[in-house]
Amino acid sequence: MYVSMKDMLLHAHKNQYAVMAINCVNMEQAKAIIQSAEEERSAVIINISPRQMKAHGHGDILAPMIKGMAKKVSVPVAFNLDHGADLEDITNAMKFGFSSVMIDSSSYEFEENVRRTQLVASLAHGMGLSCEAELGHVGMAKDADNEKADLYTDPQQAKEFVERTKCDCLAVAIGTAHGSYPKGFVPKLDFERLKLLKETLDMPLVLHGGSGAGEENIKKAVACGINKINVCTDLFKHARIATAKTLEENPEIDYMDLCIAAQNAMKDFIKDYMRVIGSSGRYDFEKYQGPELD
Ligand SMILES: [Zn+2]
Repeated sequence: MYVSMKDMLLHAHKNQYAVMAINCVNMEQAKAIIQSAEEERSAVIINISPRQMKAHGHGDILAPMIKGMAKKVSVPVAFNLDHGADLEDITNAMKFGFSSVMIDSSSYEFEENVRRTQLVASLAHGMGLSCEAELGHVGMAKDADNEKADLYTDPQQAKEFVERTKCDCLAVAIGTAHGSYPKGFVPKLDFERLKLLKETLDMPLVLHGGSGAGEENIKKAVACGINKINVCTDLFKHARIATAKTLEENPEIDYMDLCIAAQNAMKDFIKDYMRVIGSSGRYDFEKYQGPELD
């Protein structure tokens, strides 16, 4: 079923688990993600960033395809604009049929972030879509932004932010960063801050930059209150490695079979991940309670 992120994340918040939000740029990835969710009886979120849309996975093509696939399965599937920055990208995503948008104004000062988020949240809610926002700033691993504590989310400021903007979930900065960490490096997450954020906000929280953070960190982040984990780099890496390995073993392989091999490798990775963050089996007996989107 095709839904916004709102009710699936509230379910995760109430039941203390997390849902994967996986970046997707083509049909093979969309199939791998949705089939994994159905087989694991898990909710799932499909993400695409404005950069990925411009480069390859155009939103006007992907949205109807993902919506069509989502409607054929019985678990909740959301399609979310990842890191929407300018209003044009966001309104385009709404027009294309995305079920959710993220407004990332985290590099602006507080009042401007509030103003921009308020606008997008009210637009989204008017259409029955959900809105994710970010406070504090999850930067880039290559710039070691994960270690810059002045970028971390402040719980009291976050409370004011959420009350004023009415965003449905909040991406928090607690020591992760986007992209690949240096080889062998495991980020140190500020779990005390995360616990305090959860206690203060009592709402679904989002972890960006989960790739390469390690299973132990991810599990602990879920236990401390994370309900949505963005996964991009790790999945793309798995797909690339599987493609290279398949080609090495069979250089003459048919192109379609190569695509299917990559798709199956992605499914293995996604299904394992769903088990780690506790979203597997959540819709075994329970039916999704929120509204479906047309
Ligand atoms: Zn992100």
